Amino acid sequence: MHINLKAEPVSNEVYARVSRAAESIRAKTGHAPTLATVLVGVDPASQVYVKRKGEMAAKLGMGHRDYKFEANISQDLLMDTVRKLNADPEVDGILVQRPLPKHLDESKVFDLIDPTKDVDCFSPHNVGLLVQGRCKLLPCTPAGIMEIIRHYKIEITGKNALVVGRSDIVGKPMAMLLLHSHATVTTAHSKTRDLAACVAEADIIVAAIGRVKFMTGNLPWKKSAVVIDVGINRNEASKLCGDVDFDAVAPKVAAITPVPGGVGPMTIAMLMVNTVRAALMRKNIMDEV
Ligand code: NDP
Repeated sequence: MHINLKAEPVSNEVYARVSRAAESIRAKTGHAPTLATVLVGVDPASQVYVKRKGEMAAKLGMGHRDYKFEANISQDLLMDTVRKLNADPEVDGILVQRPLPKHLDESKVFDLIDPTKDVDCFSPHNVGLLVQGRCKLLPCTPAGIMEIIRHYKIEITGKNALVVGRSDIVGKPMAMLLLHSHATVTTAHSKTRDLAACVAEADIIVAAIGRVKFMTGNLPWKKSAVVIDVGINRNEASKLCGDVDFDAVAPKVAAITPVPGGVGPMTIAMLMVNTVRAALMRKNIMDEV
């Protein structure tokens, strides 16, 4: 019988922490931790994500500034907006929703975000600190996965962890966080020769590939394996599904996250954590969140 690693109890716990910390900051400084979101264009998924982020901030007693621009915004105007948000003392966290339209140079925009307000952990400064294990604003999806692992008391030290995918947003930082938690980490990607051999050795598997049910029941899963499915994909019937074939894999492993209701909700929860943490740092308050 596998354990279904649902996000809800984990995110509830995180939101309770965030809302307490936000209240404490308001009581001490009169300032509500504030997230600024920047949305360029009309990508429907991005619109939904940004709306949810704003609603969640409001629900938790935090401030939210919403900046929306036409898809044809110039690089200069977007950079100026980031500069203004960097300089604005009322703004604690800046989130520029990805993806940006092709004519914009994403790296230039993310490189410009003040690292102390970089709640997505995209700036080279924060990525450097992340590698050194010193970053206070952790990348939201991998940090959310670590919360799931902690909540369900999954041992990491000395375990073999396999991260499938090496994107800057999920795979690489995930591997780094697992390494800092003393796992022996393997990262697989599209050029990996024998994924099955990696799976056969893995105690913890994080799938971040972006392909519907790519990891099938036919792989040689350990019975004791813990599987974390980051994938958010739509199948032919437009149904949300992960990178792991849940129905086929769940009976073969010890624990697995569902899609939806697994990693997904944790990403927004950790964005709220980062916004409050950024506010605590900026106000020099020693509280934890
Ligand atoms: P990317 O497309 O940036 O990266 C996908 C990775 O998968 C690449 O490193 C690629 O390897 C690897 N890959 C592709 N094919 C194979 C293969 N055959 N075998 C092994 N590895 C392979 O995706 P993201 O990391 O941004 O996202 C991954 C998934 O997670 C998506 O479904 C996305 O929607 C979801 N996601 C969910 C989030 C959440 O909040 N739950 C947040 C972010 C993403 P290579 O580098 O060699 O090309």
